[in-house]
Amino acid sequence: MEFETLCLHADENKKDEWGTLTMPVCQSATFVHKGVGVPSEFSYSRLSNPTRAHLENTVARLEGGAAAVAFSSGMAAVTTVMKLFIGGHIIASEDLYGGSLRLFRNVNSGEGMSFDFVDTGDIAGVEKLINKNTKAIYAETPSNPLMQVSDIAALADLAHKHNLMLIVDNTFLTPYYQRPIELGADIVIHSGTKYLGGHNDTLAGFAVAKTQELAEKIIYYAKTIGACLAPFDCFLIERGIKTLPLRMDAINDNAKHIAEWLKNRREVKKVYYAGFKDHAGYAVSIKQSTGFGGMISFEVESKSLAENVLRKIKVFQYAESLGGVESLITYPMLQTHADVPKDERERRGINDRFLRISVGIENIKDLIEDLRQAFEQ
Ligand SMILES: *Cc1c(COP(=O)(O)O)cnc(C)c1O
Repeated sequence: MEFETLCLHADENKKDEWGTLTMPVCQSATFVHKGVGVPSEFSYSRLSNPTRAHLENTVARLEGGAAAVAFSSGMAAVTTVMKLFIGGHIIASEDLYGGSLRLFRNVNSGEGMSFDFVDTGDIAGVEKLINKNTKAIYAETPSNPLMQVSDIAALADLAHKHNLMLIVDNTFLTPYYQRPIELGADIVIHSGTKYLGGHNDTLAGFAVAKTQELAEKIIYYAKTIGACLAPFDCFLIERGIKTLPLRMDAINDNAKHIAEWLKNRREVKKVYYAGFKDHAGYAVSIKQSTGFGGMISFEVESKSLAENVLRKIKVFQYAESLGGVESLITYPMLQTHADVPKDERERRGINDRFLRISVGIENIKDLIEDLRQAFEQ
């Protein structure tokens, strides 16, 4: 089956006695045993639930993994996966989602784990950091918010040469545009809150494992820690996935236009967008993904202009998050990256002139017109 069809029909196991077309919300905490010592397929909803199993089967198939586990948020997925590496050393992308950075630095580091942060696009640079305690490489590509691209196949080769696991956060491109497991990754992470759900209305997260053996370990931690996705939220994410390809294509097209428009503005000093032919990671992007997604960051000439844009924007909404049908704009310095030390933020270009947009599916004319009027001082 092709990807668009899988988004609707990936879970061939879904069948019930009523013949429901749509997987219903199975709102039950527990399940009745069939007899003494004869459990039902499901026993307790922290461990597993029919609506969640349906969603997990869908996501596993879209990512080409052996199994997927659905969590109550992307951060719950990352937190649970990190339990596989207790006491170990991890090499992670330096340009990382702010919450993952906070988890690694401020929580996991205090629990006996250690981290090095590096540009994971630089394979030799990653290799230099491997030591005898290193357990995994954790990459986000394209990265957030600087849109740095890492070569997943090259990272997988490096990881496996040293007996490490490769974890890829695939939130930005989704399996519609990029399938890390096919490129060699061992675990894929998602914030399902973003493009998979796609409607800015539900929090969710996923961990997808390449092998069943690895999935079993994640499932063990997931059921023990308990950050599982509730049945109704599973239903909403499943519904979002049905239109994933349509939304991604609309977003991808809109983003190309907006990136070009920003590039041609005199007041814009720099545009970070993986789809530019002169982007350092363009060749790798073309090789490993089939779209560039909807994320664009840019630097304007002054702090006052950045604030002006945020104040005047009408169609774009000034809100955290990304990946939904509504276009959003964020000020990373004050929002997603507020916890990153100032020196480091400035060094990487995340300053008071730096804005990030998540392009939605509105008509491109309205989006461009909105930006145009917001740039007027
Ligand atoms: C949002 C996000 C997360 C965290 O997901 P939540 O659902 O907000 O917990 C992780 N990685 C990336 C790339 C994200 O954008």
